[in-house]
Amino acid sequence: MSDKLNPGRDLLILGGGLVGMTLALAAARKGISSHVVDRADPAELTAEGFDGRASAISTASWNLFTNIGLADTLEPHGCPIESIAVTDGMKPGRIDFRPERHEGTLGRMFANRTLRLTLFEAAKDEKLITWHSKANIVDRQRGEHGVSATLEDGTVLRASLMVAAEGRGSPTREEAGFTMAQWDYHHRAIIIGLVHEKPHEGVAWEIFYPDGPFALLPLLDDEEGRHRSALVWTVAEKDADGVLALSDRAFLHEIEKRMHDIMGDIELKGSRSSYPLGFQHTARIIDHRLALIGDAAHGMHPIAGQGLNLGLRDVGALVDVLTEARRLGLDPGDAQMLARYEQWRAMDSLMVMGATDTLTRLFGLPGILASAVRRFGMAGVQRMPSLKRWFMDEARGVSGDLPELLKG
Ligand SMILES: Cc1cc2nc3c(=O)[nH]c(=O)nc-3n(C[C@H](O)[C@H](O)[C@H](O)COP(=O)(O)OP(=O)(O)OC[C@H]3O[C@@H](n4cnc5c(N)ncnc54)[C@H](O)[C@@H]3O)c2cc1C
Repeated sequence: MSDKLNPGRDLLILGGGLVGMTLALAAARKGISSHVVDRADPAELTAEGFDGRASAISTASWNLFTNIGLADTLEPHGCPIESIAVTDGMKPGRIDFRPERHEGTLGRMFANRTLRLTLFEAAKDEKLITWHSKANIVDRQRGEHGVSATLEDGTVLRASLMVAAEGRGSPTREEAGFTMAQWDYHHRAIIIGLVHEKPHEGVAWEIFYPDGPFALLPLLDDEEGRHRSALVWTVAEKDADGVLALSDRAFLHEIEKRMHDIMGDIELKGSRSSYPLGFQHTARIIDHRLALIGDAAHGMHPIAGQGLNLGLRDVGALVDVLTEARRLGLDPGDAQMLARYEQWRAMDSLMVMGATDTLTRLFGLPGILASAVRRFGMAGVQRMPSLKRWFMDEARGVSGDLPELLKG
C-alpha cells in the first residue's frame, strides 16, 4: 500500500496496548489524529485467557476514562475498592486504608480484557484513529519536518510526532539510544482468578511474605453470584516453574496456607500465568520528535498496582501539552512542548518508581527483626490519620499537578 492512502497524521503511536490506545482516543477527543501500529492481533489480545490480569484503576485514571467517554461502557464491570488492608504475613499490626464514605472509593478493579475490549471498540469508530494491527515495522525515521514508519508490506505511515508505547522492550526506545536504569527482582508474579465462599467486601489485601507479596484484589461476583478475587502471588524466580507446575490441588493448598481463611473455601478460576518482574526507568523520555509513554518509559513491580496508572498520567500530560501546542499553532513535534512533557512527568514518575522499589525491598527483607521493625512502622502509620490520608491520595492518584483529563 502506498502512503498516499495513509494521510499524514499528528501522531504515529507505536504500540496499541492499554496506554497507546488510550492515548490515541484521548488525543482524538481533542481533535488530534493518529496512526496506531501494533504487531499483535487484536483478536488474540482480547481472547479469553490471553491476559488474565486485572488492574486497579485509580480515581484519577477513572476520571480519564470518564472524560474520554468510556465510563458508561466500563462502569458495570468495575469492582469498587472500598479499602486496602496491608499486613506483614497476617501477623498483628496491619494497616487499613479505608476512606470515609463521602470520600469515595480507592479505585476500581477491572479485568484487563474488559479494558482492552472497550478501548478497541471505541477506537474502531473513531475517524481520527487509523489502526494498523498485526503490522511489523521494518523502518523508523525521524526527520526535521516529520516522522515515518515503514511496515513489512511496504506501507509508509507519516506523522509529526512518534510516540513509543511498545511496553518494556520498546524497540523504538532502544533504537533511539535511551539509557535505562534497570534491574531484575528475580521474582515472578503468578496470577489466577479465585472464587471464594465469603464476600471480599471490596477489600484489596496486600499480604507481605518474605518470599514475596501476595495480593488479593476484589472483583465483581460472577453471573451465578459467586464471590471472586484476582490473585497476584509473587514468588522467587527459582521457585516459579515449580509453583506453576504444581497440581491444582497442591497449588490451592499453598494459597490457602497464605490466606488464613479470610475468604473461606476457595476454588481456582481459569489458568495460571506468570510475569517476570523487574525495574526499568529512563530519566529522559523525549528525543527529537519522539516521546515515550507507559511501560516503554517506566516498568515497575506490580506491588502497588501503579504501572498502568502512571502510564495513564503520561497520556494525560502528553495530551495537555499537544492541545496547548495546537492552540498556539505549533507542530505536535515541537521541541519545547516535548520538553514540557518530560519536565511534567519527571518528578511523579521518579517518586512512584522510587516508592514502589523501596516498598518491594523493605517487605522482602527476611528475619524476625525486619518483621518487627516493619510492624512497628505500620502501627505508626495506622495511628496517624494524616499519613494514611497521604497514602490514600497517592493510591487514588489525585495528588500533584494533575493533567486536565485526569481531573474529576
Ligand atoms: C502481574 C501484574 C499486575 C499488574 N497490576 C497492575 C494494576 O493493578 N494497576 C496498574 O496500574 N498497573 C498494573 N500492572 C502494570 C500494567 O499492566 C502495565 O503498566 C501496563 O500494562 C503497561 O501498558 P503499556 O500499554 O505501556 O505496555 P504493554 O501492555 O506492554 O503494551 C505494549 C503494546 O505494544 C505492542 N508492541 C510491542 N512491541 C511492538 C513492536 N515492535 N511493534 C508494534 N507493536 C509492538 C504490544 O503488542 C502491546 O500491545 C501490572 C503488571 C503486572 C505484570
